[in-house]
Amino acid sequence: MSRYIADAIRQEVAVRAGFRCEYCQIHQDDAFYPFQIDHIVSRKHGGQTLLDNLALACFPCNVNKSSDVGTILLPQQIFIRLFNPRLDSWNEHFSVESGRLYAKTTIGEATIKVLKMNEIERIIERS
Ligand SMILES: [Zn+2]
Repeated sequence: MSRYIADAIRQEVAVRAGFRCEYCQIHQDDAFYPFQIDHIVSRKHGGQTLLDNLALACFPCNVNKSSDVGTILLPQQIFIRLFNPRLDSWNEHFSVESGRLYAKTTIGEATIKVLKMNEIERIIERS
């Protein structure tokens, strides 16, 4: 398990994602900062640098996600895992209107919360 991700792997992840952030769906051409390669299950939690565990992520999604794999949603106080672009369908968990993301599921809700996907600058950037 290496920290280094080969250029060929980066390119394959980007092409597979259609050059969109796999969390918030912003296109690379519309984002201020270059996109990054996210370990869906972070190395801290045993995730490996394999295509099945990698996702294309915009800078704010990747920074806010960090090594998190889920969160506690109140008031139920139950652990909810984050959206996994390799296992989950984006349209099943999210919708978007005028740049604002809406959760359709608790997984969507948890992901919007942890990745701070609806900060005002991000809504403006997305719309
Ligand atoms: Zn994003």
